[in-house]
Amino acid sequence: MKVVFLDRDGTLIDESDDGKVDRLDKLAFKPGVFEGLRLLRDHGYELVIVTNQNGIGSDEFPWDAFQRVQDVFLDEMEKHGIRFFDVFICPHLEEERCECRKPAIGLVKNFLWECEVELEKSSMIGDRSTDVRFGANLGVKSFFLSNERFELEEDLREDPEVHVEQVASFSDAVEKILAENLKAGESA
Ligand SMILES: [Mg+2]
Ligand SMILES: [Zn+2]
Repeated sequence: MKVVFLDRDGTLIDESDDGKVDRLDKLAFKPGVFEGLRLLRDHGYELVIVTNQNGIGSDEFPWDAFQRVQDVFLDEMEKHGIRFFDVFICPHLEEERCECRKPAIGLVKNFLWECEVELEKSSMIGDRSTDVRFGANLGVKSFFLSNERFELEEDLREDPEVHVEQVASFSDAVEKILAENLKAGESA
């Protein structure tokens, strides 16, 4: 299967100023995501979220606060005809040095293998350099969404091994994925 891996916060929904989308009033969808995801779906891509959620399970960010928002997020997506094949969540803090926090690929290792993900047809969309590193670690092309909070780190821009393109919006990323999909289809 071909997959578009998606970051959640800052990519599909607004990033929260305090880093936690733990209340419904903080949930805001980014422009163009419903249309974009539907287009990807219609072109045969499976949609998979991979998200780092700092410290879920702590007093400041209990699991039920995360889940309440996530349920509404998924419901809203469903109303727009979008279903995710899977949602992978790293709930750890960076200092816990887990194997599942992006840019590590521990969360999706089994999935890649079990579902026979075609990496050359798959991609990653995110708003941080860690998303691009995650994509590079997977061996897929990444689309970095230009944004005010984070920059694409220079070593990634200049590394010939890292396949990354900086785009202005989610819709632009989708457009480029579909253009490449078309090219691949023609040469096949
Ligand atoms: Mg993000
Ligand atoms: Zn983790």
